[in-house]
Amino acid sequence: MSLALPQLDSPPGTRTHCPYCAFQCGTVLDTTGDALQIRGDETFPVNAGQLCVKGWTAGELLNHPNRLLTPLVRGKPASWDAALAEIADAFRRIQQEHGRDAVGLFGSGALTNEKAYLLGKFARVALKTPHVDYNGRYCMSSAAAAGNRAFGIDRGLPFPVSDIALSRTLFVVGSNPFDTLPPIAQWFEKQKASGGRQIVADPRRTPTARAADLHLQLTPGSDLALANGLLFVVIEERLLDATFIRERTTGFDAVRRAVLQYYPARVEQLTGVPESQLRLAARWLADGPSMILTGRGPEQQSKGVDTVLAFINLALALGQVGKVGAGYGCLTGQGNGQGGREHGQKADQLPGYRLIEVDADREHVARVWGVEPASLPRKGRSAYELLDSLGTSIRGLLVMGSNVAVASPHAGRIIDRLKSLDFLAVCDAFVNETAELADVVLPVTQWAEEDGTMTNLEGRVIRRRQAVEPPPGVKSDIDVLHELAERLGCGEKFTFASSEAVFDELRRATAGAVADYSGITYDRIDREGGVFWPCPSEGHRGTPRLFAERFHNADGRAKFHAVEHRAAGEEPDAEFPLYFTTGRYQEHYNSGAQTRQVTRLIGAKPVPRVQMHPELASRFGVDAGWLMTVESRRGRVEFSAELSHGIRPDTLFAPFHWGGRHAANLLTNPALDPTSRMPEFKLAAVRIAGVRERATEAGA
Ligand code: SF4
Repeated sequence: MSLALPQLDSPPGTRTHCPYCAFQCGTVLDTTGDALQIRGDETFPVNAGQLCVKGWTAGELLNHPNRLLTPLVRGKPASWDAALAEIADAFRRIQQEHGRDAVGLFGSGALTNEKAYLLGKFARVALKTPHVDYNGRYCMSSAAAAGNRAFGIDRGLPFPVSDIALSRTLFVVGSNPFDTLPPIAQWFEKQKASGGRQIVADPRRTPTARAADLHLQLTPGSDLALANGLLFVVIEERLLDATFIRERTTGFDAVRRAVLQYYPARVEQLTGVPESQLRLAARWLADGPSMILTGRGPEQQSKGVDTVLAFINLALALGQVGKVGAGYGCLTGQGNGQGGREHGQKADQLPGYRLIEVDADREHVARVWGVEPASLPRKGRSAYELLDSLGTSIRGLLVMGSNVAVASPHAGRIIDRLKSLDFLAVCDAFVNETAELADVVLPVTQWAEEDGTMTNLEGRVIRRRQAVEPPPGVKSDIDVLHELAERLGCGEKFTFASSEAVFDELRRATAGAVADYSGITYDRIDREGGVFWPCPSEGHRGTPRLFAERFHNADGRAKFHAVEHRAAGEEPDAEFPLYFTTGRYQEHYNSGAQTRQVTRLIGAKPVPRVQMHPELASRFGVDAGWLMTVESRRGRVEFSAELSHGIRPDTLFAPFHWGGRHAANLLTNPALDPTSRMPEFKLAAVRIAGVRERATEAGA
């Protein structure tokens, strides 16, 4: 398969990538006219010229009137020198009084690989704190942990996205990519045009579910039971690939025994999916090549890792892994959600997926950094646990590119914890809800103003290229970390001539690791249009498809894991009788810190609405547009009601892109998966606590 970009013979412009999601659509930014023009890059093979509304309106972020252009110290404009000194002095003082572990860092899946790498290094070398984690813990970590357990490696898609078109049966679980990454629809359409079938499991009849041949409208939180039920049918109807199981896997017998309890009648009771649909789905999946793609639905649960493992079990039992057009993959969310979790901004990881608790890994990375291995801290706290300890054991925090006050579960508690800090610093381009609480806010560059690399949902390492000059007064996160390190006495370890120089050190730090970037260079990415990791030498062609011959476990085999359905952290009961689940609008991205600034996007979706079934609405006497107070054990939010036959009558859905009184995360439950520490965003118990009629738009 050729991955090279065609020669550039199209109109002028800088080839770079969209600032938002993990699809990382190729864009061409033309700055020759009065206003910046963005078009889809037809030469980039992932989006093939297509963009969603977020991508082609992203230019408005650059010269936006709300853009932060000067540092703020306690809300007042300040010089860079004064603001950086405030941060360094505060961290030094807190560490002297309370110990090194009393400061923390919170990063983002939006940061380039270079920034994520430097943030992890800054935590371990400049501050010597174990407490660094990032918002990708909210997004990807359950699929990552499951991939590591089953395959010995975690890469969102272990194949190029174009392989979707080559599958005969495509099974999407708990994801609505037609809204969240619309250009992916072209691959779904090609798959259908070639005679493929599509199955979607989702509590809502989303645009993706509507386009599918079979929609399994399951009860929220029952995905694991569904997967085990499908495997029961596969075993009962002798649809297994016995040769594949024998030659390429271990552990199937325990799984076979475990799924005996998941007979169709019981699964129908647990999931609400009729036996006829269960059997049809299992038969279609056996008619390969078949592909299973999971999204946040099954992953953002307190049993997210086990749930993903159940779907991997199903794919392995069918022998549908490691073949063209087949496999298990995770539809990563954030722009650099993949690279962001590979290079050391996770509490338990060092660059290249090296582990901070493994001596050989510590030694390798310490050698690259020029420090003693013993000086590296051990494992720190995961994202929610880190935020939950603010104001107690952690007293100072630096947040880089994440709006934790909106994006965290039980957001009301996290806002209280942020307020209880001795010191909070935030680096961002806009003053978002987290920055509003900060002692110091630093204005930083955005996507089109900087160079770097991102790793998209396929594990393809691509180049973010500078198209425009940043406005005067802002600095890059890389400069911020360097200047803070100077003030903390270790500036020489953070002095780099360019982002490429940071990447060259990252390459050395990852050499020989699972996510080996050592053979990837800026020049190669420019020439080849992207390089898939692992890529252990400059002569290596990269690895678009994993698992064709072996898995990454020591014995080369994939591992089955026997997993059991269990209740969510919180199930509906007499007091809070409804399920509440969250997700995204096509027009907005994550906490909305960027997209709520874009005129067209906020115009199209100015406020969040709670989606409810008309049957439930009539029980409460609600009409479309009425205001409805939704309450959980943690908070209450007043939403405008949107009626839809596409949602189960026992479930409410709301997007999480807004903060303040519109924040869906005031309601969500911070129950964590025991392995990935991912919070249970997808499932909380709520009640309708009040209804009132209104004539005008909520929030107006
Ligand atoms: Fe592409 Fe995602 Fe950007 Fe939309 S938001 S243009 S799907 S990268």
